[in-house]
Amino acid sequence: MRLSNLSSGEKGVICKVLGRGAFRKRITEMGFVKGKVVLVVKNAPLKDPIEYSIMDYAVSLRRNEASMVEVMTEEEAKKFNLAVSTTATIEEALLETAKIAGKVINVAFVGNPNTGKTSLFNQLSGAHEHVGNYSGVTVELKKAQVKLDGYTINLVDLPGTYSLTAYSPEEVYVRKYIAEEMPDVIVNVVDATNLERNLYLTTQLIDMDVKVVMALNMYDELTLHNDQLDHEALGKMLGIPMAPTVGSRGRGVKDLLQAAIKAYEEIYAVQKPSTVHHHHIHIYYGAEVEAAIADLQRLMRISQNADLFYRYSTRFLAIKLIEKDALMTELVRKECANADEILAAAQKHVAKLEEEFKEDSETIISDAKYGFVAGALKETFRYGKQNRHSHTKKIDNVITGKILGFPIFLLFMWVMFYTTFALGSYPMEWISSGVEALSGWLSGVMPDSLFKELLIDGAITGVGSVIAFLPNILILFFFISLFEDTGYMARAVFITDKLMHTIGLHGKSFIPLVMGFGCNVPAIMATRTIENRTQRTLTMLIVPFMSCSARLPVYILFIGAFFPHHAGTVLFLIYLAGIGFGILSALFFSKMVFKDKGQPFVMELPPYRVPTLKSIIRHMWHKGSQYVRQMGGIILIAAIVIWALNTFPLNSARLRPFDEQAAAVKEHYAAALAQRAADSATLAAAMEKRLHDIAAARSNAQHEYSYLGQLGHAIEPVMRPLGFDWKMSVSLLTGVVAKETVVSTLGIIYQADSNDNEDEGSTAQLKQRLRDERYHSGAKAGTPVFSGVTALAFLVFILLYLPCIAAIAAIRRESGSRWISAFAIIYTTLVAWLAAFAIQHIGSWLA
Ligand code: GDP
Ligand code: MG
Repeated sequence: MRLSNLSSGEKGVICKVLGRGAFRKRITEMGFVKGKVVLVVKNAPLKDPIEYSIMDYAVSLRRNEASMVEVMTEEEAKKFNLAVSTTATIEEALLETAKIAGKVINVAFVGNPNTGKTSLFNQLSGAHEHVGNYSGVTVELKKAQVKLDGYTINLVDLPGTYSLTAYSPEEVYVRKYIAEEMPDVIVNVVDATNLERNLYLTTQLIDMDVKVVMALNMYDELTLHNDQLDHEALGKMLGIPMAPTVGSRGRGVKDLLQAAIKAYEEIYAVQKPSTVHHHHIHIYYGAEVEAAIADLQRLMRISQNADLFYRYSTRFLAIKLIEKDALMTELVRKECANADEILAAAQKHVAKLEEEFKEDSETIISDAKYGFVAGALKETFRYGKQNRHSHTKKIDNVITGKILGFPIFLLFMWVMFYTTFALGSYPMEWISSGVEALSGWLSGVMPDSLFKELLIDGAITGVGSVIAFLPNILILFFFISLFEDTGYMARAVFITDKLMHTIGLHGKSFIPLVMGFGCNVPAIMATRTIENRTQRTLTMLIVPFMSCSARLPVYILFIGAFFPHHAGTVLFLIYLAGIGFGILSALFFSKMVFKDKGQPFVMELPPYRVPTLKSIIRHMWHKGSQYVRQMGGIILIAAIVIWALNTFPLNSARLRPFDEQAAAVKEHYAAALAQRAADSATLAAAMEKRLHDIAAARSNAQHEYSYLGQLGHAIEPVMRPLGFDWKMSVSLLTGVVAKETVVSTLGIIYQADSNDNEDEGSTAQLKQRLRDERYHSGAKAGTPVFSGVTALAFLVFILLYLPCIAAIAAIRRESGSRWISAFAIIYTTLVAWLAAFAIQHIGSWLA
């Protein structure tokens, strides 16, 4: 528990002091060190400061300061299940427990993407998180606990980053995590075969002045190349203990943890608080920059409000201000009493430095960092004789080559899609018929009730639609994982980058867009790998134009009904239209709205690696379950809402005539039967037919006057210019849940699915009904609702209008902005409307 949370009169033993630098020094000097008992004299809620008594001295700490001290209370000590009785006093017992609590170490893994963080993490924790040969695979926090040498070590696997500047959400996230969660030790995982680039991040950790231990991962490859690294010397130079590791095989992981424990003990050793800065070095940025840093640090020190400096070192903040880091500038502005003075000075220094160096201040700093890294390596590292990654180079010459690059890429994409749909259609059918069988069985055994309808028409149908697509999605993910793990994905990014740049996107946008053809939800999730925010947002906005597989059933139905002779062409044109609208939108937004050139970004080409099947399957499974979790809940809720809208109000008055009619029919036939018993079979059949028609009309009326039907009528005026009637409007509304629902809604409204029909039959019947549908009233009474042009307009509307609820939720989550998701809804629907309008009018004019 944090010291600030104790109330008056409570006692606690200090287990840990968090925070950093000057703060730690001061607080340890006041006597707040591990193992000391603190008594709260007065702690009134919301009152600052809090009075404490420690070693019989009265001390007052500000709430913020007290929250940096971790203590063990009696309550907690009991929970630790220690034999409190064996020790004499409570205080001794507390001390005993605090010793154990002090042996809990929080360790965070930080490193470039693709350096083996997750592999090491899995080795240490026995977890099975996905490892992939592609950047951006780890996107959420993975936590695990390990016990070693009497310590409990809490591990966190952070997303991979190249840097701790504020260009990508990962970077911001990692930086914030380090500063705010204050892990005791950072394990910096580096690719030992690529130190030059990897150590750049390390220089930023050094700036942050955090306790770092380095895992020299991929040490096997280093040895294989015969490269020579004097890691002890390098460790001394950087002030960072190093442990060679092989993440994929678990070699060196124990040494790594022991190094982390040792580093931890150095900070928290009660006897020698003076060793706090023992390992901390400064990177020298040159006289001019150093002078600016010193000046800014001086200004920060006079700042009265010092909370910020518990979390961030002043040197780090000063460097960030010189780099013009927007987030840090904001933080200083908010938290420093003399922010104006500091920021004005920073601006002055930046201007001066840029004038002197004729260079952007950020570049000045990063050049110095690279210089530092190069210098450190020059003394400690020798390349081996072997030609590095020569097989990778040879393969790359072909795969990313000018001539074969694109054809090979297209071939892979084609294989991916073909397999996804061809292979996926079998399990999809099994699942669909399984769900149908379940519904059928339930409707047989359950007594009629609203609950039964809710369960069958709402819940099972909704969830069934999600699960039916799961095989497709798993196969798609299988390929994506395969591409990622082998290293091909990075090449795909590379190949498509130029193309994507012409429409304002990045090579990394390509994969999400391609995935969009499978399902928009994982595609939107995949935009996380795009560093540039503008490009990420833009990609998210145009993913919905990539026609997802859920729209296919609608196309198939309508194309079958209205364009049976040009089915393939029409389908192809629809997909092409989606891509076209995506490109136009991207062009429009990037040229007109964002006008952001986007940061040029290192596109690294990791060496090709032979992936293990286990890892691919695990990856596929991980993403698949993410899909089910994201979609399942939302779709279930939405399906139930749509069901309710479609069922209520229960208009019994309006429906009574149908019931009376049905009763009359039954009576009539009963009478007829009594007279002509010989004809019983024909009579019964005739009665069935009439009853069926009445039931259909009854349910039609129910639908028309349900809330959903009313909504459909309400939006009909908006849809009329497109040639859509209320039934189409209703089906479009339900399509918001999931686009394939459009088909089932049309089925319900047109009463095509009578129970005695075969599956095939009901689709054919629905097609016929669509063709036969006429306007009942108004100016167009008697004319068919669907012409070829209207059908086409409807298809294009389905293609373009707002993606399903799950996709919107994904946009909301990934963009972190309500506005962007709202914009996506409005924009796509507007485009859909305009396109359908154009088709309707140009079409009727041509016809
Ligand atoms: P992360 O992005 O940093 O989490 O990296 P991953 O743990 O996903 O690993 C990236 C790739 O490197 C995977 O294909 C691993 O199997 C592979 N890998 C990890 N550690 C080592 C290692 O020490 N040696 C070799 N040769 N490969 C490794
Ligand atoms: Mg990872």
